[in-house]
Amino acid sequence: MFKKILIANRGEIACRIIETCRKMGVVTVAVYSDADARARHVRMADEAVHIGASPSSKSYLRGEVILKAAKDSGAEAIHPGYGFLSENAAFSDACAKAGITFIGPSADSIRAMGLKDRAKDIMEAAGVPIVPGYKGEDQDLKTLAAEAKKIGYPVLIKAVAGGGGKGMRLVEDAKDFADLLANCQREGLASFGNAHVLLEKYITKPRHIEVQVFGDNHGHVVHLFERDCSLQRRHQKVVEEAPAPNISDKMRKSIGDAAVKAAKAINYSGAGTIEFIVDVSNGDANAPFYFMEMNTRLQVEHPVTEMITEQDLVEWQLRVASGEKLPLAQKDIAINGHAFEVRLYAEDPAQNFMPQTGRVTHFSNDALNDQMRVDTGIEAGDSVTAFYDPMIAKLITHGQTRDEAAKAMRSMLEGLNICGLNTNQEFLHNIFVHPDFLDAQLDTGFIPRHEDALIPDHYGRPSEGDLKILHTYLMQGADEGQNDIWGAHDNWRMCGDVYRKFTLNCRGETYNLHTNSDKNFVPEYASIIKHDRTITLFNNGRVIRAELPDYNSDGAGDTSGRITASMPGRIVSVMAKKGDVVEKDQPLLIMESMKVEITIRAGCGGTIEDLPIAVNDQVSDGALLVQITAEDAA
Ligand code: ADP
Repeated sequence: MFKKILIANRGEIACRIIETCRKMGVVTVAVYSDADARARHVRMADEAVHIGASPSSKSYLRGEVILKAAKDSGAEAIHPGYGFLSENAAFSDACAKAGITFIGPSADSIRAMGLKDRAKDIMEAAGVPIVPGYKGEDQDLKTLAAEAKKIGYPVLIKAVAGGGGKGMRLVEDAKDFADLLANCQREGLASFGNAHVLLEKYITKPRHIEVQVFGDNHGHVVHLFERDCSLQRRHQKVVEEAPAPNISDKMRKSIGDAAVKAAKAINYSGAGTIEFIVDVSNGDANAPFYFMEMNTRLQVEHPVTEMITEQDLVEWQLRVASGEKLPLAQKDIAINGHAFEVRLYAEDPAQNFMPQTGRVTHFSNDALNDQMRVDTGIEAGDSVTAFYDPMIAKLITHGQTRDEAAKAMRSMLEGLNICGLNTNQEFLHNIFVHPDFLDAQLDTGFIPRHEDALIPDHYGRPSEGDLKILHTYLMQGADEGQNDIWGAHDNWRMCGDVYRKFTLNCRGETYNLHTNSDKNFVPEYASIIKHDRTITLFNNGRVIRAELPDYNSDGAGDTSGRITASMPGRIVSVMAKKGDVVEKDQPLLIMESMKVEITIRAGCGGTIEDLPIAVNDQVSDGALLVQITAEDAA
């Protein structure tokens, strides 16, 4: 076994890897960027090396700097985690050349799966089912259009070098084929330097089921069963579970066997995932499944597999990379119970999932028990920055049945208290109380189909009951020690009852709490955390973030006319100009931040007085984007 390894990653996965290393007595070297100088993974590791500035391209993606850090610190191996350099064949090669073990597959295996058409060729030859379609050399429009017709619409065009959901076009009608093809080829060339495309039959009701595989350097390959990752938003996984519900034992066996065949076809070593698209338009139990792609690394969602197989996959990775044989044979790997994972993100579902940045002022969970696991790179006091993925934590539960594991996840989400920024906590909770989800009616259309139930109009806003709870809380002297702020407040006795008025702001609205305190009012389980003037109420899975007004400020009042950037980003498009008269909610500009396009709308109706930005400008956090003079003020 290695004595010392370097972890070329950050956040929760770096922390997760360090935990296993500690258990195995392996010394760890962390790497960090400027923004991560005090990050949890740095605090946890035995040693840490600074590798550059905050943007990933200047730190976590600098293979040569990371290799040097490994050599200088005497690490024998590098664990790349997921993302960053984990599927970079050149980096795997460079490690081999430097005599440092890359904890992952060979560069050849990575390359074999890098192009979609090549990968499909290999799988087809190995007898793994692939989505019907066309993946030939001839890229002539005539040929492609004829092939699309043969496949039958709807058809999906995919750039062979595409990834991350980019370079794909859905064509529903033959008349749009030529345009969408040109479009896809342009994107393939611009984003991936390759205009080559393939065509696939578009599966209208798919489930995403993937199989965890593991190979060693002695010719063995096993699978550790499947995960269902059908709950996705814009091709990003939100909830994962294992095993996949509603599939027959026969299908479970054949999908597992197919995955092993796929891994053997490329002499795979280490942890990998074979992703399948399952066509459930005619039911789940024995649905046809097709190879989609192979991820040649540890996946974000590997914990659900660990929970049901009671194995530590990072330990397996270290053992295999150091030359040991696989810890278990196929017949010794069994499924115990059911597991779920949700991805807790710093994002606001009520604002089109806009990523949030800021300091996490509080992070605790009073529901935790041994059915639950939290993988995170963040503790209270740490910040989520715009430089990296906004995932805060993975919440994982296990139960003997799917129902039990789902119930545990529901309690875990209800017990979670996280303050300082908006998260998708309530959205996740809404999934775990949705009858169709509890009934395991899964396909990739689930989230878009149920958006109204998952993000209702009142999302993140206080109900009557919430206002009573908040009022009771404030009446009980939450203002202690802050009398200066409260000096301006009404406070008098009426009919023997204390009567006080409070004002709270939540999501652009002002709420007046001035009912008599209701002595008979007994709230359900709820908790409230106050930090400065921000009050966060957690009430049965719902999260309300409200602000007490700042009585010390000049009371400038309505600020809806002044729109500032809530995080750094780039201006993609500007639809308005100085002097324009705009209506409330009218889209004014589009900004891109953390890989997400955000439409900025007018906070009030009025005249644009200032608009100091242009397309392609980089704007920093807090920068003025638009200043509107409200109609009534004008
Ligand atoms: P990428 O490499 O960009 O992630 P994939 O080929 O893995 O692209 O596909 C991304 C997503 O697109 C899949 O997770 C699935 O939801 C959807 N998808 C891919 N192929 C098909 C298909 N033939 N029919 C329907 N949906 C598909």
